[in-house]
Amino acid sequence: MSNWFASVLTVQPEMFPGPLGMSLSGKALAERKWSLETVDMRAFSTTRYGSIDDTPAGGGPGMVMRADFVAAAVDSVARNGRPLILLSPRGVPFTQARARELAHGPGAVLVCGRYEGIDERVIEARAMQEISMGDYVLSGGELAAMALIDACVRLLPGVVGDDQSLDEESFEDGLLEYPHYTRPPSWEGRDIPSILMSGHHQRIRDWRRERAIELTKARRPDMWDAYLKRAPKTKH
Ligand code: SAH
Repeated sequence: MSNWFASVLTVQPEMFPGPLGMSLSGKALAERKWSLETVDMRAFSTTRYGSIDDTPAGGGPGMVMRADFVAAAVDSVARNGRPLILLSPRGVPFTQARARELAHGPGAVLVCGRYEGIDERVIEARAMQEISMGDYVLSGGELAAMALIDACVRLLPGVVGDDQSLDEESFEDGLLEYPHYTRPPSWEGRDIPSILMSGHHQRIRDWRRERAIELTKARRPDMWDAYLKRAPKTKH
């Protein structure tokens, strides 16, 4: 059985497991399909009040997490081949492909920044890979770490009931997913597209693919371009 292992370095360990302890990820956690440890970075402070931040060199607003304390926290964790990742708005944007790659590995060691961020020297000295959850600024890395962990955990074997439902999802084949419908067949004057009620599996597959293509072209021209580059022979 896989034992994907996430270590989260944070100054707010009480935020975990939080939502990761519920629903799919929570059930998988209880079933030991993955495990989670939090490391309270404050425990590595040598200051009287356990603070790990200080004023920025060169001036300016906010506080910066100290390299020495963050390094001590990082060095306390047994890596066991796991990548060391800093959640950061400056990082490489997180993708489904990255989630899949991480889910195939032994787990991840995740550093959550707070305040203005962390001293650049420890990012370099410990060769942290920076990953971003999107082009916006969160107040801390914890929610980003949770999103990353959730995306990985649902890809672990046996976590999502039906593996096929993973294969057909948005991004898996480079397209957004087709629209879904369920009962009732007619609601507020809107009917489920009749093709979906036809029982004609090939035509349903074709219809779903057309919708996926339409949605991707309209909403994510960037994804559509990338798709065409990868599969230039597909007809549309
Ligand atoms: N001053 C920094 C932002 C600090 S936000 C800047 O302008 O780049 C505080 C912490 O929240 C960061 O250290 C990081 O760990 C986390 N964070 C904020 N936005 C994030 C994002 N989009 N993705 C991942 N982590 C983020």
